[in-house]
Amino acid sequence: MSSHMDRQEDVLRWEAARQDLAGAQKRVDQLGASEPVAQFRRQVAVLEQALAADPRVFRSVFIEQGMAAVAWEFKQRDISEQITLAIWEQLLAGGDASTVLMRFIWNLPVGKKRAFLRGVDRYLSERYPMFKGLSDSWPAENAIEPYIIEPEERVKDSRLVNTGYMGYLDLGYSLREVELFVWLEAIRDKQCAEKPCELGVFLAGQKEPDGGCPVKINIPGMFELIGLGKFAEAVDLLESANPLPNVTGRVCPQELQCQGVCIHKRPMTIGQVEWFLAEWDKKVKALVAEAVRDGAVPEVARGTSVADLVQSAGLAAPAEAAFDPWTAAIKPPVGIVGSGPSGLIAAYLLAREGFPVTVFEAFHELGGVLRYGIPEFRLPNELIDDVVTKIKLLGGRFVTNFVVGKTATMQELIDAGFWKLFVGSGAGLPKFMNVPGEDLINVMSANEFLTRVNLMGADQPETETPLPEVAGKHVLVIGGGNTAMDAARTAQRLKGNVHIVYRRTQAEMPARVEELEHAIEEGIVVATLRSPSEFHGDAETHFVKSATVAIMELGEPDDSGRRRPIDTGQTTHMKADLVIMALGNSANPIIKDSEPRLAVSRWGSIELDREGSQETSLAGVYTGGDAARGGSTAILAAGDGQAAAREILAEPELPISQVKAMVAGAKHYTEMGESLASVVEKVDLTPEIAELVVNAPVVARSAQAGQFARVLPAGEGAELIPLTLADWDADAGTITLVIQDVGWSSHQLCALEVGQAMAGAAGPLGQPSKLHQYGADERVVFTAGGLGLPPVYPILREHLRLGNHCVLIAGFRSKDLMFWHGEGDRVESLKAEFGDLLEVIYTTNDGSFGVEGFVTTPLEGLLVAAASGDGPKLAEVIAIGPAVMMRAVADLTRPYKVPTVASLNSIMVDATGMCGACMVPVIEGDRLVRKHACIDGPEIDAHVIDWAKFLPRFNQYKDQEKAALERHGVI
Ligand code: FAD
Repeated sequence: MSSHMDRQEDVLRWEAARQDLAGAQKRVDQLGASEPVAQFRRQVAVLEQALAADPRVFRSVFIEQGMAAVAWEFKQRDISEQITLAIWEQLLAGGDASTVLMRFIWNLPVGKKRAFLRGVDRYLSERYPMFKGLSDSWPAENAIEPYIIEPEERVKDSRLVNTGYMGYLDLGYSLREVELFVWLEAIRDKQCAEKPCELGVFLAGQKEPDGGCPVKINIPGMFELIGLGKFAEAVDLLESANPLPNVTGRVCPQELQCQGVCIHKRPMTIGQVEWFLAEWDKKVKALVAEAVRDGAVPEVARGTSVADLVQSAGLAAPAEAAFDPWTAAIKPPVGIVGSGPSGLIAAYLLAREGFPVTVFEAFHELGGVLRYGIPEFRLPNELIDDVVTKIKLLGGRFVTNFVVGKTATMQELIDAGFWKLFVGSGAGLPKFMNVPGEDLINVMSANEFLTRVNLMGADQPETETPLPEVAGKHVLVIGGGNTAMDAARTAQRLKGNVHIVYRRTQAEMPARVEELEHAIEEGIVVATLRSPSEFHGDAETHFVKSATVAIMELGEPDDSGRRRPIDTGQTTHMKADLVIMALGNSANPIIKDSEPRLAVSRWGSIELDREGSQETSLAGVYTGGDAARGGSTAILAAGDGQAAAREILAEPELPISQVKAMVAGAKHYTEMGESLASVVEKVDLTPEIAELVVNAPVVARSAQAGQFARVLPAGEGAELIPLTLADWDADAGTITLVIQDVGWSSHQLCALEVGQAMAGAAGPLGQPSKLHQYGADERVVFTAGGLGLPPVYPILREHLRLGNHCVLIAGFRSKDLMFWHGEGDRVESLKAEFGDLLEVIYTTNDGSFGVEGFVTTPLEGLLVAAASGDGPKLAEVIAIGPAVMMRAVADLTRPYKVPTVASLNSIMVDATGMCGACMVPVIEGDRLVRKHACIDGPEIDAHVIDWAKFLPRFNQYKDQEKAALERHGVI
């Protein structure tokens, strides 16, 4: 109970307070009437209105004040557990307070940041094991490891190995937590003024800097934005220089570039952060789109960085999609040759500036080496699709199955309306060792092996493209670059017993360090200082069995700066059921052969016209990437594509009327290229043979006798198959293909009806027939075995048009399998048109029509007659049909020295020289030389083909082909 005295004091205090209040109220009233306060009140009213319209306007004010509050906490040397946990919880909560903290910590001196890291390490590492020990020697030597799947797990399938920071999502961490892991990495950055990661390090007397980023990403700027919690802005900054961060971040040799010159002992994980940002952007946009769809935007947005993106995600894509550069026609069209990284980046940057862009790609899929070379476990194909989608959203168009140099020359593209061309055709021609036994079956290029698996899915049981058996087999991968690692790790996943054989030591290997480490972790044996000198095979089957391997030692450095491998003279043996050559690539000759004005180096790479420019010797034609550099890297290719795009953007503008005409022409041409390969006519020649007239306007325009098309049936898992052109009609825009139902793919093609389409038809491929004019006393003899007649037909027609006297010997098994021989049919029509110039002899094996026997029977008669002078001289023999028939013809004509060619096109994958699968062993002098049916042929001098080595190749995949037919219930 209070005393009387206390009560008295309370009254006095109350009286004093009342007087204070009255005085204060008086002062408030007086000040309230003053001009400064009136002005303040007006400002508050404006802010209140703004707050009602958009509450986010107050964020920055709040952030500034919040910073001051947090600063007080960081005055201590160490941050207490309570404060660390509170800060972390606030960071996790996202939203403005979280951003305040991120910015505050980003701006702290390194010592204070370290104090925070100590707290994180001490008090949070139980919850986040990756924080354990993080503060030791931080920031120079310690970082959060991006997530990598354990070797025993990852070799089971082709799942992504390095899942990076995003991999922590799979372990149950939230997206916000992952953002914070990346932010913790960003705050390690020193923000070096010299920006070595971006610009490289310039050394005295050195023209090019060491390291740095070939596409000049503002890396310090990117880290700063992350440090400030501005993830979306960091994405924008990154993509303004490189639209492929999700790709290059994963495959760049960062240890030689940005990270190689990082001043931290443990470099900033620049590549990982780059591809994290791209993935983050994708994920957040998907979340936002989902939330917008569900009407739950405020929920998603509350307290997370998603809020920042609501607006941009909602608006960006439709706004971009709305502009169609082909309709607007305000910029001239640009053609891009090849859809590898160099082509994609050029296409993106030009499309972004409103240029109508068409990418012409030889394959049916886009991405170049990124798709057919680098496996899914390293670079998911979905990421290439993302880039393609971005370009399409900007109005970019893609014409697949279009081989520039074959389907059209560069000049034809320019004539069609394309203002400028960028040639990013890569360096797709695989190198071989040229050692004995390299012709054996199952000695193949890494391009072929990887294309079969990555592009055609040959490792999947339900696809049609065959693959050598790998499980339990001895696989030797020769080489030490990324290609070797990819081939070896792919074979390891197919359960092979894999050895990488490399002539130097691991230190000299050109592969990315991470790939080599991963290969070794996955159980691949690396045999260094070894170089195969000969392969040995089974005498009967011609399958490879083993290798003699030279033992090397290192000598003095060579031009590459690496120590030269020297043969010690000693050898060892290694078992080998499959040998994969990963020795690098040289330039594919298709483009240079089609354009003599294009200057190329002695290695076939396209030369740049002048320093500091990507322009070639052909004005308006630019190049870059592997096409210009030889085998290089994805980021250097992207850098070249970027440089070329910038050069094109800097070109003076054309008059708008000219632009409109060019766009109209290029658009028409693009649409022709895009049109479906649909069947417009079909004739069943026999129950097993179909004649299809197929819509293929750009192929038909360029077709010449002797060339072939590479077709892809529709449907999942289909296989690419070469088919010699039986005819074409440039005006109607069609090609004619005759197909025998022998395997599942040909079965699918034969089953096509009018109106149905195949997935694609590329061509015309290969060399056209070499045509010579002969005298009236000479004969050109064609031996066509069964399905050899359709390819013979256009060649025969050209000879007749030249006025040559021709003999066609067309052989069939029996009368009921014959076609094109009736009145009004093709052969009879030629006879009608060319009269005496054409003599036709039919043979049937069973004698049911014409001469009984093989085509060789009448051929022999002609040869004997010519030799004895009783018949006309034989100028040349052209044999097309089953391989054994062609060999028999070659054997027959050889003693008579009658020039003979065989048309070979059966074992191919890409059919443009990229894989080397169509290898033909040829004897030149006393040397065995590789020819490729798709590049050098399909017609090859039948007398120099080593048929004994060549024929077994036709049986290489017989078992798989049979299994496919059984699987589909055809047999
Ligand atoms: P490419 O990627 O080769 O693309 C060229 C495209 O042009 C292809 O799609 C091709 O089909 C098309 N084309 C060719 N000729 C024509 C024509 N006449 N008409 C139309 N289209 C045509 N680099 C790295 O940085 N890191 C790595 O980890 C890495 N790993 C690799 C692994 C493998 C297996 C291989 C083979 C290469 C690897 N590289 C790597 C190298 C890198 O992929 C290349 O340097 C890069 O892809 C080159 O890009 P580009 O645009 O010049 O050509």
